[in-house]
Amino acid sequence: MTEAIHTTCPYCGVGCGVAVSPDGLGGATVKGDETHPANFGRLCVKGSALGETLGLDGRLLHPMVHGQRSTWSRAVRYVAEGLQDVLAKHGPGAVGFYLSGQMLTEDYYVANKFAKGFIGTGHVDTNSRLCMASSVAGHRRAFGSDTVPNSYEDLEEADLIVLVGSNAAWCHPVLFQRMQLARERRGAIIVNIDPRETATSAGSDLQLSLRSGTDSVLFSWLLQCLQSGGVLDDVYLNDHTTGFEVALAAARRIAPTLAVTADKTGLSATDISRFTELFVTRKRVVTCYSQGVNQSVQGTDKVNAILNCHLATGRIGKIGCGPLSLTGQPNAMGGREVGGLANMLAAHMGYGAADVERVRSFWDAPRMAEGEGLKAVQMFEAIERGEIKALWVMHTNPAVTLPRANAMRAAMAQLDLFVVSEVLEVTDTSLAGAHVMLPATAWGEKDGTVTNSERRISRQRSFLPAPGEAKPDWEHMALVARHMGFSGFDYAAPADIFREHAQLSALDNDGTRDFDLGAVASIDDTAFAAMQPFQWPWRQGEEPQQRLFADGHFYTPDKKARLVAVDEPEAAAKRSRRYPFTLNTGRVRDHWHTMTRTGKAIRLARHIGEAFLSVHSEDALELGLREGNYVRVESPHGAVTLRMQIDNGLQRGSVFAPFHWTNATSGLARVDAVVHAFTDAVSGQPDLKATPVALEPVVMLSQGFLVSRKRIALPPWIAHSRMTVSGGEAVVFASTLTPDALHGILVNLLGEMPEHASLGDVESGDFRVIALAAGRLEAALFVGRERDEIALDWLIEMLPGENLDPAQRNLLLAGRPPSGGADLGPLVCSCFGVRRAVIEAAILGGAADVEAIGATVKAGTNCGSCRPELKRVIVDLAGADRTEARAG
Ligand code: SF4
Repeated sequence: MTEAIHTTCPYCGVGCGVAVSPDGLGGATVKGDETHPANFGRLCVKGSALGETLGLDGRLLHPMVHGQRSTWSRAVRYVAEGLQDVLAKHGPGAVGFYLSGQMLTEDYYVANKFAKGFIGTGHVDTNSRLCMASSVAGHRRAFGSDTVPNSYEDLEEADLIVLVGSNAAWCHPVLFQRMQLARERRGAIIVNIDPRETATSAGSDLQLSLRSGTDSVLFSWLLQCLQSGGVLDDVYLNDHTTGFEVALAAARRIAPTLAVTADKTGLSATDISRFTELFVTRKRVVTCYSQGVNQSVQGTDKVNAILNCHLATGRIGKIGCGPLSLTGQPNAMGGREVGGLANMLAAHMGYGAADVERVRSFWDAPRMAEGEGLKAVQMFEAIERGEIKALWVMHTNPAVTLPRANAMRAAMAQLDLFVVSEVLEVTDTSLAGAHVMLPATAWGEKDGTVTNSERRISRQRSFLPAPGEAKPDWEHMALVARHMGFSGFDYAAPADIFREHAQLSALDNDGTRDFDLGAVASIDDTAFAAMQPFQWPWRQGEEPQQRLFADGHFYTPDKKARLVAVDEPEAAAKRSRRYPFTLNTGRVRDHWHTMTRTGKAIRLARHIGEAFLSVHSEDALELGLREGNYVRVESPHGAVTLRMQIDNGLQRGSVFAPFHWTNATSGLARVDAVVHAFTDAVSGQPDLKATPVALEPVVMLSQGFLVSRKRIALPPWIAHSRMTVSGGEAVVFASTLTPDALHGILVNLLGEMPEHASLGDVESGDFRVIALAAGRLEAALFVGRERDEIALDWLIEMLPGENLDPAQRNLLLAGRPPSGGADLGPLVCSCFGVRRAVIEAAILGGAADVEAIGATVKAGTNCGSCRPELKRVIVDLAGADRTEARAG
């Protein structure tokens, strides 16, 4: 048997190692890599399902120019000449590059070198701007460098883990499992600070549902409690930091008393005191934070308010102590290391004259960008104004994910040159008017390195051949650069690029810059192929550094850290009579970004298969909405229509919607079309969690589903969501048309149906069509006044079957198995397909904890991603029992 190939998961910033065994037919078995220090063999449900995402469906396999198949040489010439034309007419400032945390470090490095050193534009930004730019800005203000001081191992060594703005149970599941280990093994306490109660709350000891945007108020009060509690590290403060007094004075202004802190944050004084007492008394504290902190107009201040508390107590870079920014994307950190952000240069250098000169001479760059470029939102606004004329998008979908997504899509359509390097043939961004589409390699085909949230560089290794004419992203750039006559792009393989990147990091470094890969700057190809995960900095002649800053050596001019005086938080836009709700956007457990990969995995699709809006039950009541009703969500920038679900983990007035659904996978559900474009003044990160919106119930006269072997496009004005199922696709939909009118439109989409059965009743509003071919189900269309969930489940089950017997065929139109079927509720455990009703039955049958549920119905016994939800079901049922007991 061939040995498994060790590579890394392409989803979140945990950066789990995976061991892949290809089957030789284009598929592979994927397991957790037991030797990888990020996960030691664990994988969450997304990682576990990676093997299901490897198919070539929808792949872009050849270069396309203006929608026509082209050759690489023609496409490269078109891009090179287009860039030269824009440069000649408008100069380098008219060229922009929008990159992605999905790219490998080597891809990112070449893109930055090409853009900043040879095109001469600083307008190179990445979708990581939407993810963790505030953490970068906060790190640089405090440490003088973008350095994460600690390691994942510290989670298992901590006595207190504070999560801020982080639904780690869903977004960083393997790390959350490591936190749970600390809880079980050493009695660590987990405090979850989040306006919204989430799956993470179920695995925490204290939930602080503070008012949105008030994190820095809470940490300002904490700073004072650390002083009054006598736990400041005076020696560390005096010897290794500056700014404490100023930061403390600002903290006193923002949170002068416990009562004011309680008033501003909306928390009880008791809960605040419990939290501050824990922080004072538990010496080993790790504070983890992610998008709830970063995606805010006060994102950088929030980060610094947290860092202030760690610096003031000297709890940084020590075992079990430190701040730990959890990055969203698999290589957000690698992008930061090569200058993927518009305000940084390669190897963590800035735009100071010495750094610019060093990079210029190292690259032998003919046209070096000498100042910071525009950050993502501002860059697209410059496209909107017609100032940027040429844009190259790599591996990301800005037509879906940028705030004011409709306006951004329209802006891209006016570009003189619009190039997209992409894995898929069709995305919302390519449909925005891409002139050139260049086929890129996907996970499994790419080769290079990525860096996870703890500064650990791991190899991503290819185990599949590149399909069609797909090439790695670095090669796209190198081909165009060479065509433009630039030297320095003759790379034969990723190892060449990695060596160059490592050499630049070590150039004139001598410990003056945090990022240094000097020890691997001369690594040979064989050693690169076998390279094991390591943490940077790894300086020549030294060991890789697991933790930084305990010694008080920072990367500011005086080598001291800065405590930063933060400002009073203020919302970018307030709710109003016209827009009385606040829209918070985020993720769900089993999907990733715009679902281009997770959307292919059958088991992931069913956890949450439909775009939705969560609303507090009392708000829903006031609006006259019931669970499952539809609601229009509107802001000045756009509107979506989503199915409503009740979530009392939300605060009144706040609503939540995931951003995963695109025009390719849904209708009326592209949520970022609604989101406003305010950004943090320091980091440029958009405020993706606080858009004022109006909600308006939409009376849907018809609802239903289409289950089909082939993809059938629905009109975009019908609210719908599409999911992959075994044998084809399922689409759920709703419309303001009557059932017979909607049926009339949709049945025409089914095309020729030589063998079919149908029924239609205008009075009851029930319309059903079953199309068959060669003894198997081809399509089922059910339209009614309500959606028949039991029929949907059963027909999804029947779709992949061949040779249906007469009894089964007779039952298809009824949409019921012979037993009649039952609505088992939402899917909780994706690995074993266990639904909520089955779990409830297990609990009512005596399964008192997560282990017992697992022993009874297997839920939670594979990847563990659903374990927080299992706890939540136990708590919910216990609450129902108590309510019944009280009523009785
Ligand atoms: Fe992948 Fe899950 Fe690990 Fe994140 S936690 S890297 S999604 S397996």
